[in-house]
Formats: sequence, structure tokens, C-alpha cells
Amino acid sequence: MAAPTTDTEVSYPAGALTSEGTVLQVEPAGDDRWAVFLDRTAAHPVDTAWPDQPADRVALRGPDDAYDVAEVRVAGFHDGSVLLGDALPVRTGTPGWVFGVAHVVAGTPPRVGETVTVTVDAAYRAALSVAHSACHLAALALDAALADHWSKAVPEDALGRPAFDALAVTRSSIHEYRSEDVYRIGKSLRKKGFDPSAFDDPDAIAARVTEQLRAWTAAGGSIHVDAEGTGLSARRQWTCALPEGTAAIPCGGTHAESLADLVDPAVTISVEDVPGARLVTMTTRVTAPR
Ligand SMILES: [Zn+2]
Repeated sequence: MAAPTTDTEVSYPAGALTSEGTVLQVEPAGDDRWAVFLDRTAAHPVDTAWPDQPADRVALRGPDDAYDVAEVRVAGFHDGSVLLGDALPVRTGTPGWVFGVAHVVAGTPPRVGETVTVTVDAAYRAALSVAHSACHLAALALDAALADHWSKAVPEDALGRPAFDALAVTRSSIHEYRSEDVYRIGKSLRKKGFDPSAFDDPDAIAARVTEQLRAWTAAGGSIHVDAEGTGLSARRQWTCALPEGTAAIPCGGTHAESLADLVDPAVTISVEDVPGARLVTMTTRVTAPR
């Protein structure tokens, strides 16, 4: 069976919730599970290199059958083999590879050549999209709140502030209407000129971040994902209209369409001192619409 020669075409960055595609390839994925590859899909897969946003919940239907999708993952084709999820050793976009969205189904998969429809759980997608947009905004607001705590020049964020988030983040996870970012302030960040005592009063920093988030969401600017192409590994950027200007951050996830969709954002920050480092966890919550 010939491996795909181009990336799966993806429509989730533009907000699509359904798609129709042709089955190009079906690969065994262990335990009577099969990875189904389509020419195009609306399903957002969890990324391997930076798995911040979970995969969509998806239903797959053919002309006669429905298929139970257990997970949606990124896969890479290289030298005649396909590597799935955690087994994939490279990030999307690596030259010499083709990247696909694997719809992993349990039991009998659809056949190559069949047309299937993909339907995404819209409520779950919306909850993740709002949380992901809030996560980026909170990072920018945190950078702004910490801007006076640097003694040296460092790379700047999308709004021209010292990029604490980008320099210190170790893990970011998106949940329904909530995100969590973990930062590590160790020797290398102190050498770059960051003063860890900035977090001596975490509630004060959290209050400033929340205040900034609410000012931004009240402004109600538009949000969209700019893509250089439709393939899975095309470069994409979250762009958001803020009173300070348009912010752009590289991102492979899905997002709200407007800052007005982020209802009553609020941030909490906790600090833990471990040998050699200060660990900071920022949780950003957004109220779900009724
Ligand atoms: Zn992102």
C-alpha cells in the first residue's frame, strides 16, 4: 500500500467541525485498533512534540457503518514505515517526512477508497478553544506583569515584553475552560537576569494578570489562526487583536473567534521552591457559557 505523499489537509485551524474525506490508508495500531488516514479532516490530533491541547472527540461514519474513534493522533511517514503518536521521533514539518492525522478506530476499520465523514464534538472543541485562547492571553499578561523584574535584555514576546513565558515554560496543558502552565525559574533564567522574588507574592501577580485579561477581553477583539497552507505541518499562528496591537504566537491548536468568547477569565498562581529552582504554576479559568 502506497504511503501518502502529502500531509493530511486539515480544516480545524479555520474552525471546521465536520469534513468529508477519502480513506487513503489503514494501518494496524495494536489491540485490534487501526489508524485510518484520510485525504482531509476536521479532527484536531494531539501533537507529539508539544501535546498541550488534547485531541478532539470525533465520530467517523461511512456510507453503511459508523466507526468508534478511540483517539486522534499525529503520525509520520518515512522510508516506507508509519510511526504513530509517542513513537514519532520528530516534530511535524521535519523535512523528508509526511505527516498525517491518524483516526484510531477500535474494531473493523473503513476500507481504502471509501468516503467517510468526520464529525467533531462541538461543545468539547469550543471549551478547549476558549481555554487555549485564554492560555495565550494569560501568558502575554504574565509577561507584562513581570516586565520590571528583569535586569538584562532578553528575547521579547509578541507585545514587546521580556518573554518570561517562552523562556521559562516547561509544560502547558489545555482543558475544558481551563489551562495550566508550569514555569521553572532555575539557574539559567536567573543568569538571564530574571529575579525569582517577583513571585514572592503570587496572589499579587495573579491579580494583575487577571486584571489585564479582563481589560483585553472587554475590548472584544477578533482572534484567528493564520496558516501558510492547509497541510498538517503548515506553519500556523494564533493572531489576536489587542488594544496594544495585533499579537501573533506560533500555535497548532484551535481557538475562539473573539475575545468576547472568553467570559470572566481569572488566574491563580502557586509557587513551590525545590532545590535549585522555583516552580510556578499558573491556572487560567474561563466561565462556560450557560
Ligand atoms: Zn497555542
